[in-house]
Amino acid sequence: MPKILMAASEAMPFVKTGGLADVMGALPAELVRAGEEVAVVLPWYRDAKLASAPREAFRDLRITVGPTSFLVDIFETVELGVRCFLVSCPPLFDRAGLYGAAGSDFPDNHIRFAVYCRAVLGVMRHLFRPRILHCHDWQAALAPLFMRYTFAGDPTFFGVRVLFTIHNIGFQGIFPASALYDLGIPTALFLPNLLEFYGNLNLLMGGMYFSDWISTVSPTYAVEIQGDLGFGLQNFLRARSDRVSGILNGIDYDTWSPEKDRLIARNYSETDLSGKSACRQALLDRFRLRDRPGAPVVGVVSRLTDQKGFDLVAQIAAEMMREDLFLVVLGSGDASYEQMFRDIASAHPEKAAVHIGYDEALSHMIEAGADMFLMPSRYEPCGLNQMYSLHYGTPPIVRATGGLEDSVVSAPPQEATGFKFRDYSGAALLAAVRDAVGAFGDRPRWREMMRRGMRRDFSWAASAGEYAALYRKLLM
Ligand code: ADP
Repeated sequence: MPKILMAASEAMPFVKTGGLADVMGALPAELVRAGEEVAVVLPWYRDAKLASAPREAFRDLRITVGPTSFLVDIFETVELGVRCFLVSCPPLFDRAGLYGAAGSDFPDNHIRFAVYCRAVLGVMRHLFRPRILHCHDWQAALAPLFMRYTFAGDPTFFGVRVLFTIHNIGFQGIFPASALYDLGIPTALFLPNLLEFYGNLNLLMGGMYFSDWISTVSPTYAVEIQGDLGFGLQNFLRARSDRVSGILNGIDYDTWSPEKDRLIARNYSETDLSGKSACRQALLDRFRLRDRPGAPVVGVVSRLTDQKGFDLVAQIAAEMMREDLFLVVLGSGDASYEQMFRDIASAHPEKAAVHIGYDEALSHMIEAGADMFLMPSRYEPCGLNQMYSLHYGTPPIVRATGGLEDSVVSAPPQEATGFKFRDYSGAALLAAVRDAVGAFGDRPRWREMMRRGMRRDFSWAASAGEYAALYRKLLM
């Protein structure tokens, strides 16, 4: 079994700010369950939640980046069968916040994650020597560069293959050119398509340059980032298109299954859907909406940001609310979208309701109680909510992008699990909503569609199997 070492800046259950932590909480454990030998390296942040005290594995690792030296200790703990190495360097990681405080990034993030990446190489030298180094997002991007450039002669790293996974290409780790000096990286590497990006330093690009394969979190996103959604890296990626692919994330069936979810009014399953109407009633009650049988409840659970496509809802709100439906929204984010949903709710108090905030329990109630789920994203590397919706028998209405395109089927009708629209336009969204509302009227066919979605396999076991196959391919 080839050993696999994963480098990422966050992982459940230790720390989470986004979807990366969910992947890192699930994928290594699933690979271990499948018989792989996997370890993970993480920074030891102040906010890390630890069930027990980790043991010290390596003391006083001296790391010099540019003009500054740091003393780093490596601790080790085991979580769900996965060895986790925690990089302790209090001046860099013992702070409130992972990447910044009060809305702005820490000014020394490049140094913090350079030290972290050097510590990853330290783990490889002293504690866990892998055949595969699997790096995630820009915070881990300097690990391949240090390994293949700075320490190119070190036999520890001979034959190690590098997989780089992009979770959202909107975040690239861009710093002013002067950061090169802080990091001790020679200006010889400050070249276009390597580290130089419009005069700045781009760590994500540098990490991918020194990797053997680039993956993203859905097959369609892997194609899209080579075009319109590349955020400036499309040409770089297109030049490597034979080494770019996508693997859809899984979902956590322990937390998200209507059969055993404790946060919903009644449990139900593909073979017995009866509990779902109690969930619908509970949701309408929660939002003080009076039921109109036959009118579908359209649910939204989302960050309210431009990425999520709510400007399209703004374009068609009036027409959409003329349909016989309910709209229930949970989310928070940009003030303008929060206000838009508040305005819709106050204009249509008998049909629409909104809760601004982050509420885990309510998100489960909406997945279970809604009849359909709305996700009109501008772009979506993978997306989780559409998979939760499918699993809860709540057909999603999605824009055909990224993981939404890959997880939802809209045609032919006998295979459909939801509704998709392609054009990024209010008219296309409105047409999809009308289709869904129309289809909801045919109850037997609707139930068939619900069941088809519920039967789909979005397990982590399936995703982990694809990663294992990719590791094997890289070692051939
Ligand atoms: P993204 O990671 O881009 O926000 P995903 O669909 O991949 O989108 O994942 C979003 C996750 O965050 C889901 O688990 C979703 O339920 C949750 N979520 C988003 N907003 C809220 C909210 N306001 N309250 C509760 N959960 C939320």
